[in-house]
Order: sequence, then C-alpha cells, then structure tokens
Amino acid sequence: MREKCGVVGISLHDRAAARPLYYALYALQHRGQESAGIVTHDGFQQHEHVEMGLVGDVFDEGAIENLHGPQGIGHVRYPTAGGVTECCAQPFSVSFKSGSLGLAHNGNLVNTDEVRDELAGKGHAFTSDGDTEVIAHDLARNLLDAGIVSAVKRTMGRIHGSYSLTIMHGERVLGVRDPQGNRPLVLGELDDGYVLASESAAIDTLGGKLVRDVRPGELVILEPDGAGWESFQLVDAPQTAHCFFEHVYFARPDSILDGALVYEIRRELGRALWTESGVETDVVMPVPDSGRSFASGYAEAAGDAGARTEFAEGLMKNRYVGRTFIMPSQDEREQAVRLKLNPIRSTIEGRTVTLIDDSIVRGTTSGKLIELLREAGAEEIHVRIGSPPIIAPCYMGIDMKTREELIAADRDVEEICEEIGADSLAYLSIEAITEALRHTADDLCLGCVTGRYPYDIEGEQRDRDISRPKLEPPEHSAD
Ligand code: SF4
Repeated sequence: MREKCGVVGISLHDRAAARPLYYALYALQHRGQESAGIVTHDGFQQHEHVEMGLVGDVFDEGAIENLHGPQGIGHVRYPTAGGVTECCAQPFSVSFKSGSLGLAHNGNLVNTDEVRDELAGKGHAFTSDGDTEVIAHDLARNLLDAGIVSAVKRTMGRIHGSYSLTIMHGERVLGVRDPQGNRPLVLGELDDGYVLASESAAIDTLGGKLVRDVRPGELVILEPDGAGWESFQLVDAPQTAHCFFEHVYFARPDSILDGALVYEIRRELGRALWTESGVETDVVMPVPDSGRSFASGYAEAAGDAGARTEFAEGLMKNRYVGRTFIMPSQDEREQAVRLKLNPIRSTIEGRTVTLIDDSIVRGTTSGKLIELLREAGAEEIHVRIGSPPIIAPCYMGIDMKTREELIAADRDVEEICEEIGADSLAYLSIEAITEALRHTADDLCLGCVTGRYPYDIEGEQRDRDISRPKLEPPEHSAD
C-alpha cells in the first residue's frame, strides 16, 4: 500500500519560501518517493523545479536559490503503476490568458475521463493522463470569466472524488479540500507567515503551530507576504468521508489529524485489539515500524488485564533497504523481507509470541516473518492486526492493488491464518475503528474494508447517496 502524494503551500513575509517548502517536503517524504517539486512566485512570475527522485536528490543548493519569491507550493508523489514518468510529476503548471497556475494534488478523481473529454471537446490539449492536469485546465478555464473563489467553486462542482490541493495563483497560495474531506489538509502559522500541508508534522518541522484542519469543502487563501488567510466554505456536504487508513497506516504518528494525535489513535486501536482478541503469550512484539504504536497499546492493555506478557522488539530493521514493494517480482519481494528484518533470537527462542502489525495486504510479508520467527525458535505465533481485512481496492489516491492481489479479497480469516502459517490470526473490527476515531461509519471512508464506497465509482457499490456531477456533453470543437 502506498500513499500517493503529499502537498504543501507557504506564504511568508519578506523571506524566500523555497527552503521552508523543501524542509516541509522532507517531512512529507513518506507520502511519496518517486518525484518532488516546488513552484514559487516572486510577484512577477512563477519559478519551478520538478524532478523524479527523493526530495534530497531533487533539490540542490542551486535549485533552491533559483526558486525566487516568498510564496510557493510543493509536492511529493508516488504515481499509479505504469505512470512513473516525468510528465506526471508535480506541481503541475499551466499558463493561460490571464496568468499562470501551479497545482499540487493529493487524492484521486473518479470522474477524470468525463471532465477531460468535455474539456478536450472545447479545445483543451492534455499532455498527461493524470487527473491533476484535468483540474488545472478546468480551473484555468473558469478563471477566464470569474474570480478565483468563484472559479474554484465551479471546478469543485464539476470534479468528483478525493482531492486535497495546494494551488499557486499569481502571488496567492490556495488550499482546497474535497467536500468529503477524504485526504487530510491542515493550516499552520509560522512566525512570519502561514502554511498549508497534508500533515501537521510538516508544520512542526518549520517550527510553526497547527491552527486547524482545513474543513471538507473549504477553500483557504493565504494572502501574499504572509499577511494572513481567508476562509471560504464553498461546498457543504451532509457527511464526510475521511480515509480511516490515514490514521491507521499512512500518516506519521507525530501528526495531528482531525484534532487527534495519530500515535495516540494507534495506541488506542492496539488496546481495542487486546479487548477484542487478546491472547496471553510470553512476548508481544511489533512488526517494525508499522506495528509499534499498536503493539505498545496492546501490551499496555494486556498488562492492565493482569496478563504476564512482555513487550519486546523481536525483529530488527535494516533502515537502508528500500520498501519491499519496490521489488518487481514475488521472489525478489520475499528476499527483501530477509534483507529488511532480522529476528533477535534471544527474545524469541522457546517462547510464545504475539506479532502485531497495522494491516495485511498481499500476505507475503506476514508469511515470511512467521517463517523467520519459527526459524528463530518461536513456540507459537499469534498474529493480531490493527485494522479490518482489506477486501477491495482503493480508488481515492492509495495504490492498494487489485482484488486478485489482496489476500483477504476471497479468503476468510481462518484461510488467511493457514496461508501465512500463524497459530492464530485476528483483525480489529470496524466498530473499534469508528470508536477510536470518534466518527460514525457514515463519516469515514471504509471502502477497502467493506467494498462499498463514499463516491460514485463505476462498477462499485456506494455506501451513501452521492452522485457524480452531470457535465455538459463535449462540443467537439475549439471555442
Ligand atoms: S478505500 Fe480505504 S484507503 Fe482508500 S480512501 Fe477509503 S479507507 Fe482510505
């Protein structure tokens, strides 16, 4: 599973925005590792530097020096399979009659083709098959006869799906969150300006303080020169559809989303996991690093309940190995697990073990880890997972594979347990998730664990009454 993007936007008083944008992108690197980019505006023109690679490789001192101006936006990206090309790296820039736009997008539209076809029929030419370019063109078109607030509102009425955007329009930086608030976006204050970012950890990195989440359906405009910000509630939706996996998996534990520290939410989920399916073993250990906060909550609840179980690290991570899923073939992925994690025999040998992780996607890693623990002498291995089984793909900006690749798509818990070779396996319930996030299921997206989605997606079931916008048919002529 990969988050596809992180976005940031900054407006400062009398100081170049490029360096703080660069630091903020570093803080958001976990949200995208394929490309990184910054677009700034110096009051006269836009400057941009966008390349494939990690933030630290994309920008050198010269690149940062050349990004002039006290305001700008930035982006890190992990594109969809097959789309690893420079043309899809962001921020996306477009020039039009009355100016220029830079746009950075986290999320995924589910009506991209409809909007693209309609705009193409009106003479717009596209250079990529990405949805961000479609949003940029739609906005640029609306700006021909409307101010920025009305133009954004019109575009929001036409696009359907998940989007947290930062936009550079002239000297102003904008932040927009889709009406269901699927992906996060927060507003922060610095000593000399303001910042918008996917996660509050980016604001902390800049020494700023979190003001609040950008609300679903809200446009926030950062004034030039770091002078202040304005809010426009452009769309009021009856329900939200926050991605619950942001709290479980994607966001940094030190980020505050929806008013709650992600680390604390994960510990609470760990405690709930003990309440629902706790098993007393000699040792409780996390899969590093993803299972750590869950395991500490689980072990704490076990201790409170009088269980004689020790919380210990039993798997050591080699931090210099890339993520397993970058490996192209199944064989190489299996090898990568051994490169990445090594068991600590003395914690494991002759003992019963509970292994805690946040999720199981393909099951390859879990199976390999159980093999490693058995080789290291574990007597029993019980696996506890801090989320419900993933049974369906994500269409909202998470690269989560197809149903065929998801181990839980067509197997029940017992079958999965057998396949990964555990002595027992239990997942967390959806009820525990909604309780920990203090939301009802109606205000969350749970699509990948229920198979029913909060957006109108072709060929899939909806879990609420939201329809995609009806667009005018294409005119098939440039106007
Ligand atoms: S389908 Fe799953 S990963 Fe995708 S937005 Fe919904 S909850 Fe998040």
